[in-house]
Amino acid sequence: MSKKLLSLFLVIVVAFSFAACNKNEESSESDNTQANVEDTSSEDVVAEDMQEVNLYTTRHYESDDELYAKFTEETGIKVNVVNEKKAGALIEKIKSQGDNVQADLFITADAGNLAKASNAGILEAVESDVLVANIPEKYRDVNNEWFGLTKRARIMLYSKERVSDDELKNLDYNTLVKDERWKGKVLIRSSSNIYNQSLVAAFIEILGEQKATEWVKGLSNQMARKPEGNDRDQALAIKNGEGDLAISNSYYYGKLVNDKDPESKYAGVADVVGIYFPNQDENGIHINISGIGLIKNAPNQENAIKLMEFLSEVEQQEKFSSANYEFPVNVNAQMSELLQSWLDNQGITELKEQNINLSKLGDNNAKAVEIMMLENWDKE
Ligand code: FE
Repeated sequence: MSKKLLSLFLVIVVAFSFAACNKNEESSESDNTQANVEDTSSEDVVAEDMQEVNLYTTRHYESDDELYAKFTEETGIKVNVVNEKKAGALIEKIKSQGDNVQADLFITADAGNLAKASNAGILEAVESDVLVANIPEKYRDVNNEWFGLTKRARIMLYSKERVSDDELKNLDYNTLVKDERWKGKVLIRSSSNIYNQSLVAAFIEILGEQKATEWVKGLSNQMARKPEGNDRDQALAIKNGEGDLAISNSYYYGKLVNDKDPESKYAGVADVVGIYFPNQDENGIHINISGIGLIKNAPNQENAIKLMEFLSEVEQQEKFSSANYEFPVNVNAQMSELLQSWLDNQGITELKEQNINLSKLGDNNAKAVEIMMLENWDKE
């Protein structure tokens, strides 16, 4: 009898300490998430058949929220959004939910980050004829664990004052790191940034490890300064005369062009900085994606797949392009007029892209980071 009592006591103690652990974990999360978790559970009590989907994302655009609102309007399925700035933190948050996972969908920028989620084992393959029809194979994971939603090109920004048309004609990723013209003139953010890691990962895939290493070494020698700031800050540095040429994602130029706030530190940058799409030959320009994946054991799997399919449809794809200056992945969707004008100005009828499956960016990520460190990208 006393033994039984003792074991009962032990069970209670263990149960209480588990509860305490969970509480600690929750309290270490952001307010945003807590509110969301609480919202979800209280709604469950009020309306048990309330249809919903829990979307975990690192994107933070009003235009995305408008798309989710439209989805709710059309389907009656409520979209609960949980935000994190960094993909790594979002992956950890989902992992920490363990067997009691609440996340249904994961959205982040860069195929390298999507591959990290896949490698962390939080994603589940989706079989969907709609997604396969709407999203070209090269923008999908080989195992269907993630799907591209938008495309972005890693373009060059240049000083309209100091860079001539002739100099642009001879410019590509290769001449940028070899030509004396660009010595001490190139601006780029740090190696810790996934966009740059994926750029190098793509070169490893296309050129091989040795040539990719030479490219990084060459770039390191051409840099105007120790890498700092984000992509837009490189454009600002051109305006300030710190360098003549920067590497940036294409949508940031759209943001610069449309930055109408006179108080913005980027005010006037787009007036003196132009956009250039390099490698319009057989090599192609570096393309990356923002993408989406279904969470393993997602509680609202059916709703989640509906939202994935919805976001791949033409109308939503065109909204991504007009509101956030990204290229649609769906070939039937039109890019926005602004994006079209950039291509037209350069006489590009069809953008030539690097010919690799973006899953490779994840496979080559660790090697890319190693090369960037060895070749002193960050000038530490
Ligand atoms: Fe970005």
